[in-house]
Amino acid sequence: MAVKIQNIRVICTAPEGINLVVVKVETDEPGLYGLGCATFAYRHLAVKLVVEEYLKPLLIGRCAEDIEDLWQLMHQNGYWRNGPVENNAISGVDMALWDIKGKMANMPVYQLFGGKCREGIPVYRHADGRDLNELCENIQRFREMGITAIRCQCGGYGGESFGQTPPWAPVGAKPGVYLDSRKYIRDTVKLFEGIRSRLGEEIQLVHDVHERIAPGEAVKLAKELEPFDLLFLEDPVSIEQTGWLRRLREQSMTPIAEGELFNNPREWKTLITERLIDFIRVHISQIGGITPARKLQIFAEQFGVRTAWHGPGDMSPLAHAANIHIDLAAPNFGVQEWSGIEPPNFVIQELKGPHGALLEVFPGLPEFKDGYVYANDKPGLGVDLNEKEAEKYPCENVVTTWTQTRRRDGALQTP
Ligand code: MG
Repeated sequence: MAVKIQNIRVICTAPEGINLVVVKVETDEPGLYGLGCATFAYRHLAVKLVVEEYLKPLLIGRCAEDIEDLWQLMHQNGYWRNGPVENNAISGVDMALWDIKGKMANMPVYQLFGGKCREGIPVYRHADGRDLNELCENIQRFREMGITAIRCQCGGYGGESFGQTPPWAPVGAKPGVYLDSRKYIRDTVKLFEGIRSRLGEEIQLVHDVHERIAPGEAVKLAKELEPFDLLFLEDPVSIEQTGWLRRLREQSMTPIAEGELFNNPREWKTLITERLIDFIRVHISQIGGITPARKLQIFAEQFGVRTAWHGPGDMSPLAHAANIHIDLAAPNFGVQEWSGIEPPNFVIQELKGPHGALLEVFPGLPEFKDGYVYANDKPGLGVDLNEKEAEKYPCENVVTTWTQTRRRDGALQTP
């Protein structure tokens, strides 16, 4: 007897102040349900509406076992495809269906992908600092936790803090984060020179450009960072300007990771087949969940491109678990970004009180230990949702402001 979808619910919760969206798919088999991540933190109500008003009526009564068919059905239902709101909504259902499939098989999801290629997932963390001293102190703190790869930034993604308009901006300049790209490039090169001379060659270094400079400047930065042997330079160009990666490849050996903003397969196909990137790092819910992410991972493997899935704070533990399950079974896994689950300097197992809110809402989230993350061996994704706890942390509906980066002259730049 096929298991049928009986109900679909959306639960929004913000245990750490970030709006998380969870989709719960309930079946006609008592106690059998699945959970998925549909988090688009800055548009959470839009995603909720798509799931409740469009996907739920489309899916109720259908067979919960037909993941591929249901994914295609959701993907094609609105006729226009591949938007971030729609993809996140689909992802919530898709991950929940994989969770159900694992529970039905009585296996963790990575077993359905062929089993483990590795026991633990090496992760990289984010270190920041106001200057080289503070940054190096924070890097050391992570190294003491067993982390061997670290993303290094000075003052976030560069530029003045929001609301602090620098004296060199035009009179009447609008609010935003002002970034002088030439200064940023000079400072970043100096920063990596300083990190290498203080901390040596062993540590693996990452830097995130966050699309904040012009494509030609990104080519220059990649070239100038070459002596410091980065694990990768992240999102050097915007998704609209990936054609510049050919130029970058001609000029620099610095490995490139790109793609946390990708929504559409057209955005990554050429980058992979022409080997213009070393690491593909999509945000799994932004491309529609586990089903398309597994296809992308296998496609990338054929061309020697490794995975480095996006793993920020603005995704739920269910999405972190989805990353980890794919990583465990992927021969072309590269490294996993791990952030936002616990505050810096806290190891997950030690979390208590308010810091442990995320763990109370989402019991079973993958565990970090000595540089590696481990999935638990429960059936499905292994992460549950405590709805009573989730209710304690309602989402706030506000318009975000951090996405207003401005160039020297005050014009907007991708954030
Ligand atoms: Mg990034």
